Order: sequence, then C-alpha cells, then structure tokens
Amino acid sequence: EVKVKVEVASEGIAPVSKPAFYVPVERDEKIQASRLKLPILAEEQSIMETITENSITIICGETGSGKTTQIPQFLYEAGYGSNGQMIGVTEPRRVAAISMSKRVGMELNLSSDEVSYLIRFEGNTGPSTKIKFMTDGVLLKEIQSDFLLTKYSVIILDEAHERSIFTDILIGLLSRIVPLRSKRNNPLKLIIMSATLRIADYTENPRLFKKPPPVIHIESRQYPVVIHFNKRTSVDYVRESFSKACKIHCQLPEGGILIFLTGQQEVNTLVKKLRRTFPYKKTWNLENEEKIGDDEDCSASDGENVEMSLSKAIQEIRKSRKTVVKALPEINLDSYDLAPADDTEADMLDAEDEDIAETEGDSDEEWSSTVEAEFTARSSQPLWVLPLYSLLPSHKQARIFEPPPPGCRLCVVATNVAETSLTIPSIKYVVDCGRTKTRLYDNFTGISMFSVIWTSKASADQRAGRAGRIGPGHCYRLYSSALFKDEFEEFTMPEIQQKPVDDLLLQMKAMKIERAVNFPFPSAPNIIQLKAAERRLAILGALETSCAKDEWSSKLTPLGEAMALFPVAPRFGKMLCLSHQHCLLPYTIAIVAALSVQEVLLAENVNTAKVRRMWAGVGNSLLLGDVIVLLRAVGAAEYASSNGALGEFCLKNGLNKKAITEIRKLRKQVTNEMNLTIAELQLVVDPQMKPPSDLQAKLLRQVVLAGMVDHVALKLDQDQLTAAGLRPHQPAYRIPEMEDIVFMHSSSVLRKTRPQWVVYQEVYQLNDKMYMRGVTAIEPEWLPVFARSMCTISEPLEDPPPRYDAESDTLLCHVNATFGQSGWPLPVTEI
Ligand code: ADP
Ligand code: MG
Repeated sequence: EVKVKVEVASEGIAPVSKPAFYVPVERDEKIQASRLKLPILAEEQSIMETITENSITIICGETGSGKTTQIPQFLYEAGYGSNGQMIGVTEPRRVAAISMSKRVGMELNLSSDEVSYLIRFEGNTGPSTKIKFMTDGVLLKEIQSDFLLTKYSVIILDEAHERSIFTDILIGLLSRIVPLRSKRNNPLKLIIMSATLRIADYTENPRLFKKPPPVIHIESRQYPVVIHFNKRTSVDYVRESFSKACKIHCQLPEGGILIFLTGQQEVNTLVKKLRRTFPYKKTWNLENEEKIGDDEDCSASDGENVEMSLSKAIQEIRKSRKTVVKALPEINLDSYDLAPADDTEADMLDAEDEDIAETEGDSDEEWSSTVEAEFTARSSQPLWVLPLYSLLPSHKQARIFEPPPPGCRLCVVATNVAETSLTIPSIKYVVDCGRTKTRLYDNFTGISMFSVIWTSKASADQRAGRAGRIGPGHCYRLYSSALFKDEFEEFTMPEIQQKPVDDLLLQMKAMKIERAVNFPFPSAPNIIQLKAAERRLAILGALETSCAKDEWSSKLTPLGEAMALFPVAPRFGKMLCLSHQHCLLPYTIAIVAALSVQEVLLAENVNTAKVRRMWAGVGNSLLLGDVIVLLRAVGAAEYASSNGALGEFCLKNGLNKKAITEIRKLRKQVTNEMNLTIAELQLVVDPQMKPPSDLQAKLLRQVVLAGMVDHVALKLDQDQLTAAGLRPHQPAYRIPEMEDIVFMHSSSVLRKTRPQWVVYQEVYQLNDKMYMRGVTAIEPEWLPVFARSMCTISEPLEDPPPRYDAESDTLLCHVNATFGQSGWPLPVTEI
C-alpha cells in the first residue's frame, strides 16, 4: 500500500507528494509556484483515482483552471507515458496543439522530443515522444490505420465543448474502441475535457456510453463579474468598443481589458486605433514592431452583418432567394467546405475575414480622431494593446502571457479564440460585442455565406467570465438585455449540425462504418444533411449504390476508397485519382492544393481582375479558366520562393501570402503521400513547373469536370435572358435543380469568352446576386463520359454503327444523352 504524504504549500494548497513509483520530474521553481496557484493541483489525487478506476472520465472546469496544461502532467507522472505507450492529447485548433505542447514540455522540463506535437503539416513527434499533442483531425487519420490506437495508453480529447466535427466523431469512435481495448487486456483510458457547457450531451446519451462516465468538476476561483448591458444595441460595434475601451482606460481603476470582436480585420483596426490614441512610446513603431495587416490576409467578404440568431439567419438565406428545389429534393448542389481538413472553424473564419483594415475611409478617420482627441487629453497612461486571433503567429500570441511594460495597462483585442482556448492573465474588464462570425450553409442548396450573427447565451457568459479570474470584474455588453434574452440561443450549435458532412461520411465509410445513421454521435447530424452527402458521394462515384440493402448501407467503390486516402475534400481526391496519365499529376496536385485553400487571390475587385488576366493562360489552357490562373500563380510563387522572394512577389502580384504558404505545404504533403506509387512525380520537384501542353490542358479540364460533376452550369440563351428580364449578353447561367440564375463574376478570366458549358468550384451570394467562383470551361460531349451519373443516356444508336476501338479494347457506340433532372440536351456522343 502506498502512503500519501501531504505537504502544505505556502499558497495554502496541499500538493500531493508522489508515491515512489511515480516518474520523477524536476520542475523549475517558478513554474512550480505558478502551478500551485491552480486549483486543479489540489485535486490531483482524486482526479488520478477516478481515472484509475474508470476507463472513461469527463473533466470539466472553467477556462484557465489548468486542465490542458496539468492533466497531461498528472498522467505522465503516474507513468502513462513510460510503458512504451504515449499520452495523446487532441485539440480542435492547431495553435493550441503547438502552444500547449511547448508549455507542458517547459513545465515538465522535458525536451520537444518527449513532449511533441503533430498537426496537419508539421510536427516534432518521434520515437521518444511521451506526450503527443495533435489536432483532432490527425488522430482521426491515425484511427484509420490503427483502429485500436495501440500506440496510446490514454487519449485526452480537449476542448470537447467546442464541438468540432472531428472531436465529436472521435468521441463516438472511442466509445467503442475503449471497450475493445479492455477486452484485449491492453486498456485505453479516455478523458474528455470540457468547459462547463452541455455536459448532458455525453452523460445523458445512452447510445454513446451505456453507463454514464463520472464527471469531475474542477472548482475554480471565479470572482463575481458585474454585467453591464447597453440601453441600446449599437450597430457599429467596433466604434462602440473603441469608445468603451477609452472610457475604461481613462476612468476606471487598474486591470486588463479584453475586447471581443468577430474577426481578424476588425481586431487589427481597433488595435491600431487604440495604439494611436494611447501610445506606449511616442513611436509605437508600427513598421518594425508590429506591421499589422501586412502579412495577414486581405480577402473578399462573402456577406456581412446579418444581425440575427443562427436559426433566423439560415431561414433568411433561404428566403432571400427564390430558389426552388425541383423534383428530387435530396439532390443538393453543395459546395464543400474547402478549408483544409483539420482546420478549425475559427481558423477558417479568420482566413475569410474581410479587408477593412488597410482601407480606412474618411468617415472612419473622423470618428476616431474626435474621440481620440477627447481621450488623449484626459489620459497620459499608455495602453499596451495586443491583438489575438487564431492565425496570429504563435510567438506573437505568446505575448498575452507576459506582463505589460511598467506603467502600462494591458488591453487585448481578440476574436472568440479568447473565449475558451487561451486564458489571458490579469483581465478585469471585458467588452463584448455579442457577435460572432460564422459560415452558414443552406441545407438544400449547400450555398454558403459568411455572416456575423449573435453569439449564444453560453458564449456570452463564457466571455464575461474572463473578467473574474483575478478578482471581481466587469463585463460591458454592447447590446441590450432584452436582445440577450430574446434573440440569443442558449448554446452554439455543434459544428456537425451546421456543415455539410461529405468528407466525414467518406472517412466513416473508409473506416467500415457503413451506417452513419446508427453511429453514436454526441449529437447527430441532421438526416437531410447525411442523405445529401450520401447522394453527392454517389454522384461522384464514391459509393456502390446498386448492391446496397437499403439507402444507408452503400459501400465505398474502389474509387471511393482511393478518394478517402487524400487529405482533401472528396471531389479533389477524385481529381487526383484520375490524373495518373500524361504527367498530369503534378498539375492536378497544384490545382487541388490551390482549390483547397481559400482566398488565394486578393479581393475580387476590378483591380485584381487585371492581375487575374495577367495570370491567365494562352491557347487551350485559357479554357481552364480560373483554374489556370491558380495553377500559374502557384507555379510562379514556388519559383519566387525558391529565390527567397515570396513576400515581395505576393505583394506585387496580388496574391495572398498566407494562402500561398498553405498551398505549398498542402502540395508537399499530397506529393509525399503519393510519392511511393508514382514515378512521374519527379516533375513536381522542378520549381519552375512548365505550363501544361495543349493536350494536358484539355485533359486537366476533364479531370476538373470529373471532380465537379454536380457543379455544371449552362449559359442562358438570348430568349431565356429576355424571359428572365436580363439584358442581352449577360454572363448568366443555369444550374440543375435550381431556379436561381448564377452569374460569372467580373473577376473570372472566362468572363469575356463566356463558354456555353462550364463547371464551377462554388456558388456564393453577394449583394442579392449569386456568383460562381472558380470557373472552368468544359465540352458537353464529355458529360456522358465523366459525369455519367448526372446524365440520362439513350439506347445505342444504329447509325452510325458501333465500332471497335483497339486502343481501349472496347466497343464504342453513339448515344443521345441529356444532362440533369431538367434534361438539358447534349450532342450525340460516342461512349
Ligand atoms: P484550461 O485548459 O483549464 O483552460 P490551461 O491549462 O490552459 O487551463 O491554463 C492554466 C493556466 O496556465 C492559465 O492561468 C494560463 O494563463 C496559464 N498558461 C497557459 N499557457 C501559458 C503560457 N504559454 N505561458 C504562461 N502561462 C500560461
Ligand atoms: Mg484548455
């Protein structure tokens, strides 16, 4: 029996003295002192007992109580990392995976070989890794090759309250893996960590866990926070937060200020204004110190300021168009979420932020300068203003943990990253704009748009709580209490119920989970959405529908299995699969990488249209349309980068450096994954990728079509234009099953050519009009071949008679064909 000796620390918390078999750790004195301030330290013994006695444990506690940094250490000391198996910790956000692995390594006094991280493109894990932080997407991939996760002795799913799709599905999978491991006498512990939100989804869900797992509540020292509602809800919340921050700084006692806005550009705008108003030094040198907005992205906005709740906003996008889904309602013309697979919602939102920082208008200047003058007169105390959003480089993020320079008050301007994943010390005042930016999908059409909507009550309270960590605090809500009561939903909807689930479904089928409807999700995706995804995968040729016992039991086709191997959306996986000929692969990889990343070319305005044209191709490659623009941009950027001049190059040529960097990483990853099987990949190594030949350009258009079979559009003829009340020669198109007319945006390089038949990457809504993004020209006679599932094909025609093709060893015959439910006629085609 092990006796536990209890020592009383100076702070009054009793740390557990470790039994002899514990793995010894030599911590830095300062670190140990700051650990002892965390309430979770006092609970170590009971936490470890619960974990020992149960295979699944839920730990919840307020943000900042020490879950992420301390629980892995408890487990490490108890030997979970030293029996040849690892402690795995998943995070929905990449930044958290990196920064937490660094922090825990530092606290344990271990090297990055031992406490490591692995995210989509990078990592430092190796044979001596004991604690591995990773994104939830990474662990999901690992399950596909090792279902029982035998490398791990314990898995911690962190930030489960964020309800990311991957964490949700991991919980479902692990609820089955854990009992399997017990049966094999190689137990796996599962720990679900969450802020105190919606625990019932896990504990009162008999399909998930037959016996509800124990829940440990970490008491945290939460001081009272006084909530101040505005009388009226302000529309211009950036301006309102500015004057609120000024007032707090000039009139209220010491204590840090934390301001919640919705996106990166808003954050940068406000940071700039505050720095100018309360300069830290006369020369808070924007050029060298922090060139805000410089290397950050600037991108087109997809729709803005819908001031309403989530459910209302979704209704609104439906209403705002006259879209009628004809005939088969389950056919969805969906656009995929093109964000990289393990990107979190927040990363994506930031990446999609609109560009307002660098284009301050006059009126904008006006408001800041009057308020500025007033407040500068009243306060000479400088303000130490720091931005915080998920795409901010981690060394800049880390500055929030450092004390501000002497004599300064700390002010952090943040997106909702600061809500739960990172804890900023010394905050006393919170200013909450009450909004959040999110990407909304129309369930029926799959059309997406970014909207700023009201956050939920739970999120607003979480934000307010940030003010009560060090003492009593204040939260200023820039909206009225009536609005909070009537408009805010209780909780934010889990991601899995908001987004298309095609990728998820494909991955699940690849894991032999054939019936997704029966899967124990913590909260199941909408049936319509699952059906739509199933349907789209079938159209792409990924599912074997003919031999299915019922509508849910369809298996993957060999093509589907291959598609699931790639770290990109299913349709892009298909494009890669079809490129094993004529040295297409290097091009397809570059195209797929570019299409997977958002906003490669800067804002879609007239100026950049010029840049786009400059990038376009000649001859046959011009018909590749917006795709050739991307391809050339990627190739040229690669070349510039090999000369060490990427930044300058991007700036000059209207490219988004961040997106280009992301593309380069993805390209490398996909290339590596295919390297072993394909010899022609030698070509990729050449940074100066030569343009595709005419034949290759044609084949690439077919490859793009094969991936976009459900994204075909046909130009309106003159009569149809007149009937629709449009002027002649408008670049207006129809898409199957939808009554809305979609337009080719003026930034498309095919705008002048206006080919009859095209495929597009996605449709989006801007100012009440629908536009196609990423357009490529196709030939109608390709449709029966590459988009067979979308065509109705006649019996073979007698005349001309069928002929034998020796090359392909098949009998070819001519057929009549039509495309889509509305039966658009196609030319007679030989198939
Ligand atoms: P939780 O996961 O419960 O939200 P964390 O374990 O992330 O809590 O944080 C515990 C404490 O450690 C917080 O007070 C936080 O400010 C501090 N902390 C976390 N990361 C760092 C860091 N990189 N540098 C300094 N302090 C940190
Ligand atoms: Mg945490």
